[in-house]
Amino acid sequence: MKIKNGLIDSIGNTPLIRLKKASEETGCDILGKAEFLNPGQSVKDRAALFIIKDAIAKGTLRPGGTIVEGTAGNTGIGLALVGNAMGFKTVIVIPETQSQEKKDMLRLCGAELIEVPAVPYKDPNNYVKYSGRLAEELAAKEPNGAIWANQFDNVANRQGHIETTGPEIWDQTDGKVDGFICAVGTGGTLAGIGMALKERNKDVVIGLADPMGAALYNYYAHGELKAEGSSITEGIGQGRITANLEGAPIDEPFQIPDTEALPIAFDLLQHEGLCMGGSTGINVAGAIRLAKKMGPGHRIVTILCDYGNRYQSKMFNPAFLKEQGLPVPPWMDK
Ligand code: PMP
Repeated sequence: MKIKNGLIDSIGNTPLIRLKKASEETGCDILGKAEFLNPGQSVKDRAALFIIKDAIAKGTLRPGGTIVEGTAGNTGIGLALVGNAMGFKTVIVIPETQSQEKKDMLRLCGAELIEVPAVPYKDPNNYVKYSGRLAEELAAKEPNGAIWANQFDNVANRQGHIETTGPEIWDQTDGKVDGFICAVGTGGTLAGIGMALKERNKDVVIGLADPMGAALYNYYAHGELKAEGSSITEGIGQGRITANLEGAPIDEPFQIPDTEALPIAFDLLQHEGLCMGGSTGINVAGAIRLAKKMGPGHRIVTILCDYGNRYQSKMFNPAFLKEQGLPVPPWMDK
């Protein structure tokens, strides 16, 4: 079929792009799954669609109903767009530290946006817990009801990757894939793709690219949920084992500092024309580390998560980088 029947039909089936510099540097074939080419410009469109389809199938989301979610932004954008296409309202709770561009996009999509202070998960006012409470309140008040998307612990999220992203990677490589690695926000992408690939070939190596400030590297490497340092990347960095992460087949965990990831993201833009956000820098840095560990001749796939213009005021802003004590690439500083 050459014609896509609306937005829903246009989610997924993204290209797999060879990353030149990473491949040359490692002697491996490093490929990026171009999730930024989804209609909402991120990997989270798939999770949004699967969460909504699952709630409709279960009968909890009814025509004209409201979807409530706590999100760093991308899931909210996916939910708002799919919601618009299917006739649902969206109410999005976002930590105020997230980029202005994502907040503007959410308002532009017609979502009701509630900004809350960025406090840890254990705090009852954490954005995830806040959104869960709000969903309960709205479910009782809204004439057509409301649901909580609950992307962290709703496994319809990873199901989207088990059923679509993983099989797409397998088909696009004709099953010739040796490793897969990415960072974790909810864990839906890593666990879902990891499970789909392992089911087809148990020898595919699954890696975790964890940013500083997240606790998962220490958990998978040493059995202890422990965080150290911090990162300016958004949408990734988890401190607990979410339901989506349960049973994730992780073989090789890596911890990636921003000073390693950001230059890679900047290089992708300057030398390969790929304008990506910070989590993609972490992912490609992880793919390079995994490639070096596995040795030349392997094919490793990672995720190109979202479009860089979502972070123009942050990682692509010399003043912001300087404020954070991070190096500014010379081409940006003019
Ligand atoms: N990168 C970005 C930019 C994201 O917004 C997210 C989702 N929060 C991720 C990566 C991680 O995806 P997942 O939630 O599937 O772990």
